Amino acid sequence: MQTNVTKIGSVKTASIMTKSNSPLGGYCVNPYVGCPHACKYCYASFMKRFTGHTEEWGSFMDVKEWPKIRDPKKYAGQSVNIGTVTDGYNPLEETYGRTRQVLEELKDSGADLLICTKSDLVLRDMDLLKEINKNGKLTVSWSVNTLDESIKDDMDAAVSIERRLAAMKQVYDEGIRTVCFISPVFPGLTDIEAIIDRVKDQCDLIWLENLNLRGGFKKTIMDYIAEKHPDLLPLYEQIYNKKDRSYFKDLEKKAEDIARKYGCRFVDNETPYKRVPQGHPTIVDYFYHEEVRGTNNSGKRNK
Ligand code: SF4
Repeated sequence: MQTNVTKIGSVKTASIMTKSNSPLGGYCVNPYVGCPHACKYCYASFMKRFTGHTEEWGSFMDVKEWPKIRDPKKYAGQSVNIGTVTDGYNPLEETYGRTRQVLEELKDSGADLLICTKSDLVLRDMDLLKEINKNGKLTVSWSVNTLDESIKDDMDAAVSIERRLAAMKQVYDEGIRTVCFISPVFPGLTDIEAIIDRVKDQCDLIWLENLNLRGGFKKTIMDYIAEKHPDLLPLYEQIYNKKDRSYFKDLEKKAEDIARKYGCRFVDNETPYKRVPQGHPTIVDYFYHEEVRGTNNSGKRNK
């Protein structure tokens, strides 16, 4: 286990289940505070403000302790998203096993469990994942926004893209619904067609989400582009300073064309879904999903 974490603490919490404030409802589960993956674009770094941490994002971690979930059935039919402001399968999970713990507590709950990760440590829990998946209520998602390992290394400290893709395939082959989350899409750097072509036979869903630079990390990303990809700087200024959306509008059209080419459904924002025939993952357009309105999971965007 190798991480940049220099400070590990523990924190007691009254419940590990947090009601989501997303319009789609459900619950979030984050067994840790902080995240060693330290993605440069991490919106979750705002957590520092609420948890009293002043250290650099990625250098600290609090391991959560919670009272056992007393009535797991209470979450039946609800969506439960594991890993919204941390990666539950970060390298410290090897030692602390808090994500495995919460999966054990929720395994018979009947909740729709979604695990979001950038790791292959999830394979350690394959026995449990298979057990949970007996009722088809499990989905595992990996974030992959490039096939270029050097860009990945610039952006995060998680495992290689190849390891993520290998894990996705193993989980998919076990009959568990998988997602390739192409997020965030970096203009000029993320080749969505190459990624879709690579993963189409090992996932049921492909989620597309644009890079959003409203947070405190805007400067970090703009500085990175200026230093490593200066030819793209005018494009980034156009999109993120002048608020020109034409790049992403064109990319939406391109994604729709790719969907047609591969015989995939292309849907706007989240819609109910099932497993799909191999090679034809449903492509879900989450570009500018922050504009979604309504509480009925209508899949309609406020255009
Ligand atoms: S894996 Fe997710 S929570 Fe962790 S640093 Fe990256 S974006 Fe943030």
